[in-house]
Amino acid sequence: MPFIITDPCIETKDTACVDVCPVDCIHPRKDEPEFAQVTMLYIHPEECIDCGACVPACPVAAIYESIDATPSSQTDLIEANAIYRNGDAALMAQAEAIVQAHVAAHPELIAIPAAERQAAHASH
Ligand code: SF4
Ligand code: SF4
Repeated sequence: MPFIITDPCIETKDTACVDVCPVDCIHPRKDEPEFAQVTMLYIHPEECIDCGACVPACPVAAIYESIDATPSSQTDLIEANAIYRNGDAALMAQAEAIVQAHVAAHPELIAIPAAERQAAHASH
């Protein structure tokens, strides 16, 4: 059951989670050319080993420990995490399209500062 990055990462993407992930399953990294193109980062669901190191590293509490733990307002982003692949333009575009649809569908959440957004997930 992989960990899931959700909407507080949008435009935050500081890569603190990348620095602590022991299996390098969070992409894109800052040194990858795709970094400038994405609005958030994604966890590869088959490569994540469920160690939990990324959760306390995230300054905006964007990461949930499982699909089941992901609030209903964020479940669309489970698929974005699952399909994103660095270097595959089509899959990158699909993941980013899901994120843009999420932004359009949840203006009330996106209007909240990223550091406070996770606290609002349960009620949106
Ligand atoms: S839970 Fe561990 S392996 Fe999975 S993304 Fe986070 S740091 Fe990486
Ligand atoms: S630490 Fe949090 S905000 Fe930063 S890139 Fe990772 S998930 Fe996104």
